[in-house]
Amino acid sequence: MERASVIHKTASDQRPPPYWTDYEGERRAFSWELARHALQGLPGGGLNMGFEAVDRHATGALRDHIALRFVARQAPALDLSYSALARQTNRFANVLQGLGVGKGDRLFVLAGRIPELYVAVLGALKNGTVVTPLFSAFGPEPIATRINLGAGQVLVTTDVLYKRKVKQLREQMPSLRHVLLVAEDGGSTSEPGTLDLATLMRNASDEFSAVATQPDDPALLHFTSGTTGTPKGAQHVHGAVVTHYATGRYALDLHPEDRYWCTADPGWVTGTSYGIIAPLLHGVTSLIDREEFDAERWYSLLEQERISVWYTAPTAIRMLMKAGAALADQHRWPALRFVASVGEPLNPEAVWWGKEVLGLPIHDNWWQTETGGIMIANTPAFDIKPGSMGRPLPGIEACIVEHLEAEGEPPRVRLIDTPDVEGELALRSGWPSMFRGYLNNEARYRKCFDGDLYLTGDLAKRDADGYYWFVGRADDVIKSAGHLIGPFEVESVLMEHPAVAEAGVIGKPDPMVGEVVKAFVSLKDGYAPDEALRLDIMAHARKRLGAAVAPKEIAFLPTLPRTRSGKIMRRLLKARELGLPEGDTSTLEGGA
Ligand code: AMP
Repeated sequence: MERASVIHKTASDQRPPPYWTDYEGERRAFSWELARHALQGLPGGGLNMGFEAVDRHATGALRDHIALRFVARQAPALDLSYSALARQTNRFANVLQGLGVGKGDRLFVLAGRIPELYVAVLGALKNGTVVTPLFSAFGPEPIATRINLGAGQVLVTTDVLYKRKVKQLREQMPSLRHVLLVAEDGGSTSEPGTLDLATLMRNASDEFSAVATQPDDPALLHFTSGTTGTPKGAQHVHGAVVTHYATGRYALDLHPEDRYWCTADPGWVTGTSYGIIAPLLHGVTSLIDREEFDAERWYSLLEQERISVWYTAPTAIRMLMKAGAALADQHRWPALRFVASVGEPLNPEAVWWGKEVLGLPIHDNWWQTETGGIMIANTPAFDIKPGSMGRPLPGIEACIVEHLEAEGEPPRVRLIDTPDVEGELALRSGWPSMFRGYLNNEARYRKCFDGDLYLTGDLAKRDADGYYWFVGRADDVIKSAGHLIGPFEVESVLMEHPAVAEAGVIGKPDPMVGEVVKAFVSLKDGYAPDEALRLDIMAHARKRLGAAVAPKEIAFLPTLPRTRSGKIMRRLLKARELGLPEGDTSTLEGGA
């Protein structure tokens, strides 16, 4: 069917009226300083993310309002009001204090979407302790790598995950002083070398005053994957809470009466910024489903939980589309009023599907771990161009740049002013949630900037109306089901298999999840490239990396293409896989 290139909207179509209806006017009037006034702050100019998200509401009009609502297949729903959440997080902060864990110390959480995870994250923030959420589907290797890079002192996890994924590498994580376990059966745990969290919580006071953090004090450490080397720890500060608040307003249109559902896992940055912090800042009721994706369940939750604002991801939308119209037809969503998506390109088809099936178009938005919050978005009162990520939010100045590389000079960039020309997406520094460094890697951090321009590593175009269009990544990082995967981390684990001589990993385009991880492997002498060995390497990768990161496909090659300097040419592997032109092969070892 022929579709229009723009979905026209007017503010009067929206209920409640959107926060902003004049794009240029709002951007002109906006300042981050003014935005901060929406928050309470701590005495003496302090700012604390956990305090703003929870405590600010816990003694006010919203104290009995439900903050978090947990649902699961096998357990009754659990509601936590803002005041109950304040008491629980106070207890957790006191537990940390009791263990001698304080401001600036580092805590990791590794769990499914259980209440204890949310309590630990918010309680640690109130205590000034820096939080790193880990994805619970990670295998032992990515977990240990990140805890070691971050020199984590505390880990909160479940007894089951501990036994399956942490225990065997515990000795190799010397910084880890305390492991706090949640019993998955609701009882208590007695694993040697760990503490039972429920017991500690029972014995802790439920009164606590947030530690006096300043806007520039570290709050969160999010690991993200690069092309080479170990994962990068992007450091975020308490001041980021101003971006979380402003974007919750401008991009997600959150109002306190909303029932909101962010489907992202807190192991990834969206699940923290918009699955925990932003909704609480706006005093909404946030749904947390403990189960994995299931089309029927998701349609039912949207309906029965009367979700009004839904923030999800393209892979999930494509899976709903695949589940067919008949399933969707069995449901009605009268409460739903705004749907947004992030993490990977959202096909125009999916935007239209939203309009036709849910009755609402899907609003794509763009950001990344380093930006800490939404930067570019389609928003309630403005026209959508399906396929575009939207326009920069108030307080955000975006542009497209090209790289000028002159022999012997440091690389520089130049603005591309002409519309519709592809280049690297860049953002002018200065928004509060911008990362403040890659942990222990100042050089890598510096490389992200040219003057005050932050270079995102994404290729994009801007059209004449100021809408941005995603083109691709400038590097080899893989996006699978919305999750960023570093090829190097996968290659390193493959290389540990006794039969593997070399490994090269690429993202292979996939209609459902964007890209799947595909590995090319050459074998050591004496090993035959047969099916049994392929399965064995696959099993090794899954065991070490976890299903979310391990390759879905492995192909054997006699040798892998390398540059003269010895780097595996992933770009060439990908071009060959896709039957595309091989491009410049002048640096290929033994090549032209
Ligand atoms: P992460 O740091 O894991 O959140 O991944 C960030 C990356 O995801 C970005 O740099 C983009 O490559 C990709 N991404 C995020 N949002 C979008 C979007 N709306 N459209 C296309 N790609 C996106």
